[in-house]
This record gives sequence, C-alpha cells and structure tokens, in this order.
Amino acid sequence: MEIHFLGTGSAYPGRDRDNTSICISTNDYHVLMDVSGNPCRKLKQINVALEDLDSVIFTHFHIDHLYGLPSLLWGMWLENRKKPLTIYCHDVNISKLNQWLNTMEVYEWGITFPLLIKTFDGGFPEELLKTRDVRISAFPAIHSVPTIGLEVTEGNKTIVYSSDSQVNSHIQTYPHIHLLIHEATSAIKVEANHTSLTEIAESYDLEKIDKVVLVHLSDHQPYDEELSRLKLEYKVQKAEEMMSISI
Ligand SMILES: [Zn+2]
Ligand SMILES: [Zn+2]
Repeated sequence: MEIHFLGTGSAYPGRDRDNTSICISTNDYHVLMDVSGNPCRKLKQINVALEDLDSVIFTHFHIDHLYGLPSLLWGMWLENRKKPLTIYCHDVNISKLNQWLNTMEVYEWGITFPLLIKTFDGGFPEELLKTRDVRISAFPAIHSVPTIGLEVTEGNKTIVYSSDSQVNSHIQTYPHIHLLIHEATSAIKVEANHTSLTEIAESYDLEKIDKVVLVHLSDHQPYDEELSRLKLEYKVQKAEEMMSISI
C-alpha cells in the first residue's frame, strides 16, 4: 500500500501546508480521503491518473475536507474520464452534497463518467467497500459534526486514520496497527474536538502501533520540541506535503 499525503494542514490557514487530504493506492484500488486544494495536480504528481481514481470518501462535512471536489470533477470531465467515480458521505449529508453538485451544474457539463454516491450511517463501525486486495471500513470519530475515522486493510496490514477527532476509544481497541495516521491540530494545548501530540502519546499504547504519522498540523506549534521531550522521534513523525510512504 502506498500512502500519499496530498495535504497535511489543519483548518487554520497554514503557510506551507494545504488542508489534510490523503490518497491510498493499492494494486487494484485508489481512494482519496477528503479533497483539499488542487487535487488534479497533486494526483498527477504522485502518478495516479485522474482516470484511475476509484473513489472519494468524505470523513465529514467541514470545508477544509471538502472544497477540492469541484476542481477534481472539473478536471476529470475535461480529461474525458469514463470510469465511474464513487463518492462516499454520511447519509445526513446527502442532500447537501446533491445541492452542491447541482449548484455547480455538474450534470449539465456533460460529464462522461457515472458519479455514484454511496452513503453510510457513521454512527457505528461499518464496511464501506471491499475489493480483491483492500477493505475499507468506517468507525465513528469524536468531533463537532458527524465524522468517521477509517480503517484500511490489505493482506495482514492495517492502517487507521483518525480524521478530525478527540482521542478515540475505538482506536485504542486495536491489538496491532501498522500505521496510525492521527490528527494533531496542536502540539500540547488541549483543543475541543481535536487531539494534541501530547494526548496521542498519553492516550494510545504505542507498543501496539508500528508507526504514527501526524496530520492536520497547525503553524507555530512546538511539535518538534514535544516529540523530542517525549523521546518519540523513532516512532512518531509529522507528515509533510506530498510525502509518500509504503507499508
Ligand atoms: Zn479539519
Ligand atoms: Zn473538522
């Protein structure tokens, strides 16, 4: 599995970071988790053709996780995409998504690919999709609006993504996580609806987690100092823009 960090910033306007958006690629599937700025350019930079992307999963309906969708669809239409694109969203957001697509007049552009919208409840763990190689499931995150975290498995490898969330007891139940992608909106300061690096270190059993990558990062936060104080540099790292890792 290849994990590409297309954006790594929090909702606060960052100087050097776009808002958090992650593409996961396996042999037979490419999924984009949330869509931030200039998604077409970034997908091309990681060698995922617009034709190859299979789905978009919206973890929640906050603007920093959504706003790249018009640009993504516009680029796919201009490139004459044919393959269906599936968009996953909470069932409570389906009317907002449809209103938005209608406001953009997406169906009047003459798009040449089926746009399939699938909904999930988000209030309990549920499987979203399964292919030959990969299985993606949702679980409730703890945020100010309905939000899901995501579990991606391929073979015996498990990736867990917190999305925007406070410390999540669901994540604490995993016996083993190969890669935990966790939000850290702040380094030390406790912020409502979010998690700090300090809380991650204090709340999760890092013995059960091979590697932690921090996303949803804010400017002017002492992440490096806190990682050093916690002596966690060997296991926990900040995501950087357009960073790719494979597990
Ligand atoms: Zn956010
Ligand atoms: Zn949010």
